[in-house]
Amino acid sequence: MTDCVFCRIASGEIPAKKAYEDEEFLAFHDINPQAPVHLLVIPRRHFNDVVQAVKEQPELVARLFAVVSKVAAAQGLLPEGFRTVCNTGPNGGQTVGHLHVHVLGGRFMGWPPG
Ligand code: AMP
Repeated sequence: MTDCVFCRIASGEIPAKKAYEDEEFLAFHDINPQAPVHLLVIPRRHFNDVVQAVKEQPELVARLFAVVSKVAAAQGLLPEGFRTVCNTGPNGGQTVGHLHVHVLGGRFMGWPPG
């Protein structure tokens, strides 16, 4: 998926401010942060969204959230807490068609979202 911006970040073709990486996942700082800490955690493998990932490789989603927890702790977001967001499709506000989990923290996160 050479036209996918997050595939290109995963391959190193596009630079990103990385916070964590392993063979399967990558976490990097959002280019347009909405909180003092705003990271995106992605699988290197391309899935359009969480629905596709759950269908094709459900166990990967559990590992993805293990990385979310690890990254949140490493960023000092515990025990105060943080917000995870996984926008899916147009009504979910998804703008990049590669599965990603937003990790937002460092301030109180209001509810409900707009
Ligand atoms: P979503 O709207 O849920 O699909 O989120 C996509 C996120 O990716 C947005 O918060 C963007 O600011 C972020 N984003 C887009 N391009 C880049 C990039 N090259 N590096 C870091 N974050 C990006």
